[in-house]
Amino acid sequence: MDEIAEQYVKMVLELGLYDPNYVDFYIGPDEWRPEDETRETDFPYLRFKENADRLLGDLEKLKDDIDNSEEKQRYKYLQKQLRAAATNVELLAGKEIAFDDQSKLVYDAINPEYPDGFFDETYEDLNRILPGSGPLNARFESFVDAYRIPADKTQVLFDTAMEEVRIRTQNHLNLPDKERVTIETVSGKIWGGYSWYQGNNHSVVQLNIDKPRLISAVTHLAAHEGYPGHHFFHLILDNILLKKKGWIEYCVYPLFSAQSLISEGTAEYALKLAFPGNEKTEFEEKVIFPMAGLDPSAAGLCNRVFNAIFMLRQARIDIARKYLNRQISRDQALDQLIKYQVLSRSDAERTLKFIETGRAYVITYALGYKLVNKYMDAFEDNSQKWEQFQKILSTPFTPSDFLLNRS
Ligand SMILES: [Zn+2]
Repeated sequence: MDEIAEQYVKMVLELGLYDPNYVDFYIGPDEWRPEDETRETDFPYLRFKENADRLLGDLEKLKDDIDNSEEKQRYKYLQKQLRAAATNVELLAGKEIAFDDQSKLVYDAINPEYPDGFFDETYEDLNRILPGSGPLNARFESFVDAYRIPADKTQVLFDTAMEEVRIRTQNHLNLPDKERVTIETVSGKIWGGYSWYQGNNHSVVQLNIDKPRLISAVTHLAAHEGYPGHHFFHLILDNILLKKKGWIEYCVYPLFSAQSLISEGTAEYALKLAFPGNEKTEFEEKVIFPMAGLDPSAAGLCNRVFNAIFMLRQARIDIARKYLNRQISRDQALDQLIKYQVLSRSDAERTLKFIETGRAYVITYALGYKLVNKYMDAFEDNSQKWEQFQKILSTPFTPSDFLLNRS
């Protein structure tokens, strides 16, 4: 299996030459890194396809020789990652794949079908919660304006929230020595935040400051990008799965693969784990709002608005699916994004661009969260939840495992 894993890593790295977003991080041997000059002018579809098929076939031959459960999990994970890579080969060659087929083949999960009007209830919740009268989008905009992250306090607020989530994580799980997160602000990106793992237990978290953001997003982003979200996951990939187990497939992280659904799903759940019950609001009342110069008594209201927006994000998958399957036009998709994602026209345009670029990647956040949340709900005790969370991250867990009986 080690040999197949090595070939898988090299294939992912080479695919990265044809799609700059494909390789999220690589911390393996330097000599495996392909030279940019080896990139061919035309995408070598047949060579990639044969390689992917051969690796999947070689892996299949090992099936009957695997006897312990850990190896079985590793096998299943590698098979799903290879299948995702093979599907990306098809997509890079310009093949059209229906949204749900792509979700299944790349992310190992399919978003449920929602009846028409399914999101109207959550939309109405937001309508009720938001103060003022008039069109909802305009009210949301003024609300964000009143309770936004002040530009001059961005760094100190994120540093403080990051330290808080780090301590909260450390209270339950082990962190390696000298691990750290550096926070940078950037602009002109299609994402809101990104956690770049640098190796050696260090992540650079970049925050996009192009548009004003509700103050409640500070702790959410700190948990999502940092602890126990992406940075924490990357520490586990590096220290446990790659170094301790010696599983070389973990030295590369292909963004368009089942690993992303685990990564985004757990990162979205990270906030709830770090701040159970009302603890997020309590922390914000005590620390974040005063630091931002905002009235702490509004922390509860801000979180209710924030949560309604968070729940509405499931609608984004539905809109993306209909648009990419050509069931709705570009204009209809934009109108629905403006309504259900409460976006301005220019933000809706940007979101649609993100959908066109990442296609089924859009499922990783809201569906990932939904799967993790449902799985975790079975564990009542908070310390059990932390334990399970670590288990999801430190074993070759795949999205369909969320739907199996847990043991
Ligand atoms: Zn993320």
